Amino acid sequence: MTPKVELHLHIEGAAPPAFVRGLAAEKGADLSGIFDERGAYRFDGFLDFLRVYEAATSVLRTPRDYARLTTAVLDQCGESGVIYAELFLSPDFCGGRDLSAWREYLAALREAAEAHEVEMRGIVTCVRHFGPDAAKETALCAAETAGDFVTGFGMGGDEGRGTKRDFAWAFDCAREAGLRLTCHAGEWGGPQSVRDALALGVERIGHGVRAIEDRALVDDLAERGIVLEVCPGSNVALGVCRDWRAHPIEKLRERGVPVTISTDDPPFFHTTMENEHARLAEVFGWDEGEFAEIHRTAARAAFCDEATRKRLLKALE
Ligand SMILES: [Zn+2]
Repeated sequence: MTPKVELHLHIEGAAPPAFVRGLAAEKGADLSGIFDERGAYRFDGFLDFLRVYEAATSVLRTPRDYARLTTAVLDQCGESGVIYAELFLSPDFCGGRDLSAWREYLAALREAAEAHEVEMRGIVTCVRHFGPDAAKETALCAAETAGDFVTGFGMGGDEGRGTKRDFAWAFDCAREAGLRLTCHAGEWGGPQSVRDALALGVERIGHGVRAIEDRALVDDLAERGIVLEVCPGSNVALGVCRDWRAHPIEKLRERGVPVTISTDDPPFFHTTMENEHARLAEVFGWDEGEFAEIHRTAARAAFCDEATRKRLLKALE
């Protein structure tokens, strides 16, 4: 199996259905409505996806739940050949942005990560539609815990909410703490959303696929070597792209934009890294050499120390 480097994975969104069912049973929560007869997550359209996502993650309540979740998610990564994964972690869901609670959650999940053979780093992520004040609190949690495990800061959530200026403080705070920066943009929002994210000083963009609508922006991304964390299966499942063939990842790559492959919230989109590879190979004819180059791009863009990067690049040779 090709070794893989994954840069864009939400810890809650990666929760395997069987794990969530087990946790729900332990806690006496009834989640039967969110699974289909085969036990997979079931939803119809984006709003329903949000409802199911919220229900599934409602059973994740304690640091220990997050430690067990970390193990389950990294197991799933390992099964697809992922050797290094960066996970989005949200103090919003881990202790309600209270710093001492956040430290407890982080310690628990870090211990689980360090016991696992898949190497992991955390990117603390604020939620755009929770607003600028929540983003500031999240950035402070990130800054206080920045180091060799929490290495990045980012923002997800509803791209349509707020302006760039609303979140500049949070991104500046994280940068000053030595964190590397990424931001979801150009998924639901168009090229301007990507430009706004770049103005926050990020070095990678989560998704970024709608940059394809603007030739000058594509050239700018290529020239500056801004890496896109592309999640094709997610884009197809949520209707950002009509189907796999219409996905712009190949066009972006041809025009020199450094692209990588990730799964976003894989069990919700009924995908895995293996599946993403199989579909991309089928639709665009990519071979092992092309995939290896894409994962070397991911390793070079990873928010990790240089010794780890060297090790990853060697494994990807
Ligand atoms: Zn995402």
